Amino acid sequence: MGQKILIIGGVAGGASAAARIRRSSEEDQIIIFEKGPHVSFSNCSLPYYLSGIVEHKEDLLLMDAKHFMTQYNIEVRVREEVTFIDRKLKKVTIKKINLEDHTETTYEESYDKIVLSPGAAPIVPAFPGKDLIHFFTIRNVENIDVLQQYLTKNAVKNVAVIGGGFIGVEAAENLKMAGFHVTLIEALNQILRPFDYDMVQIFHKEMHDKGISLKLNRKVEGFDKDKVLLAGGEKIEAEAVLMAIGVSPETKLAKASGLELGETGAIQVNENYQTNDEDIYAVGDAIEVEHALLHAKAKISLAGPAVKQGRAVADHIHGKSTINKGYIGSSAIKVFDYHGAATGLNEALIKFQELKVSYEVVRIAVSDKVGIMPDANPMHLKLLFDKESGKILGAQAIGKGDVTKRMDVIATAMKFGATVDDLRDLELCYAPPFGTAKDVVNYAGYVGSNLKNKTFRQVQVDQIRKLVSEKAVLIDVREKGEYDYAHIIGAINIPLSELRERISEIPKDKDVYLHCRTGQRSYNAVLALQNLGYENVYNVAGSFLALSFYEYFNDLTLQREKIVTAYNFS
Ligand code: FAD
Repeated sequence: MGQKILIIGGVAGGASAAARIRRSSEEDQIIIFEKGPHVSFSNCSLPYYLSGIVEHKEDLLLMDAKHFMTQYNIEVRVREEVTFIDRKLKKVTIKKINLEDHTETTYEESYDKIVLSPGAAPIVPAFPGKDLIHFFTIRNVENIDVLQQYLTKNAVKNVAVIGGGFIGVEAAENLKMAGFHVTLIEALNQILRPFDYDMVQIFHKEMHDKGISLKLNRKVEGFDKDKVLLAGGEKIEAEAVLMAIGVSPETKLAKASGLELGETGAIQVNENYQTNDEDIYAVGDAIEVEHALLHAKAKISLAGPAVKQGRAVADHIHGKSTINKGYIGSSAIKVFDYHGAATGLNEALIKFQELKVSYEVVRIAVSDKVGIMPDANPMHLKLLFDKESGKILGAQAIGKGDVTKRMDVIATAMKFGATVDDLRDLELCYAPPFGTAKDVVNYAGYVGSNLKNKTFRQVQVDQIRKLVSEKAVLIDVREKGEYDYAHIIGAINIPLSELRERISEIPKDKDVYLHCRTGQRSYNAVLALQNLGYENVYNVAGSFLALSFYEYFNDLTLQREKIVTAYNFS
């Protein structure tokens, strides 16, 4: 006999659960309750409506109530909010607003099972002067439409985006593309925290170069009429302000109904996504999950986990076994011409969590395609692995090419417990328009294996400024023309082709730091010197290319002294 299953929240997790439940049984009665006006829309595409990449608002809607009914025999009730679950009597209370006369009515509905997928709401702090500005948040189609209409009807020129997370950055990019003057304000010293500080400088540069006024390390103190007030007295003109400082799990209903919250403040679930009431499941942004690398509870607000959890719940309701190995967190973003993707842990998180893990860093910048292909570009990749076991802990990639392919390979490998040696041996698809015979991922494996086997030693680009100030021995092994175009101040130019004949210029009694454009030629130089008896040589990981990106944005915005004669980003 079928069951009566209520789905609360009709977007990513909820819609996925509902459709899968129907695929498993024609008997069940399925009702989706959604407090907003739409179900099953593409939250992730919302920012692209601001620039016109998504042309019509209707394109954001993937399914509507009519299609749910005709295709799946699933009843959808929009603009209906579930306000209470009476777990003893197994019935819910629903608040319904009549659009015609705005009157509010409530009614009850019984259930056998509930799937809660209420998501997470944008955080809006009570900054002083909030009523003096026009502020917006983005969560659903209604929000983006209200923002878009305000921007066009009020001849807005300046928009401030508060918060440099994924939503803030995507919104800033699309608003800029739409022709607005955009200021992005971030309290931390970087945007996009899945990326480490050294990597994210590439995005800082890209945003700056594309005309976004990027204000890092700036705290919002409040607002004045059409102005954002920053600590220190700076005032940002903004006829519209988008708040994107983060999201908080929607737990009001869970709390009111006696469902337990976990240590992170999100809804607690077991490995089958059951709450402390076995007939009530919860999925998506509202729950806390097991982080497979941190071995701790975590909130992961991403669409992939939400829809997979929805599917897993549907299977569990129908007695099918599900496997929940925990989550590692994989995400991607486009920032104008650059793409970024990240998976697993990064250095900042390891340090912040004070994890007792001894890790090594691979940092490479290699061509994403055969160099003679017209759209070949350097891809910057950073990978962390456990020094002892070689097990991959996390990775990040940024470039103009297909970074998601590389991070997907690494994320998949990580799910199977792979080491850097495994990456070295992966057989990946290759033809010149797609990659190189030794793919970026293989390179990461080679460098990782060499580091693990202590074949060579390296320094990261964030150490170079200090080395320059200490007048350390920095040797640039690029050819003279490359050196003349741009080099580290104080670096000695000994091209790899002249290394052996000029070896007497390289001291044996001091640490020597070698670099080239990307670290590949200097790696050869390091090995040559080691084979010639040098024990004091280090390769600069990512070399001049990574250093140029690392230094550029801070040089411009902090008005500090440059350590390079010029930058070279190609
Ligand atoms: P949601 O999809 O938010 O659905 C929850 C729904 O429940 C809401 O519509 C809400 O109105 C409804 N609801 C809440 N309480 C009740 C109630 N009591 N009764 C009835 N209805 C209720 N993730 C990515 O992985 N990649 C991206 O590129 C990406 N981009 C994003 C861009 C934006 C602008 C936003 C807002 C999110 C983005 N995300 C992205 C995150 C992703 O959309 C979420 O992780 C995912 O939608 C979570 O699914 P969910 O089902 O938990 O919640």
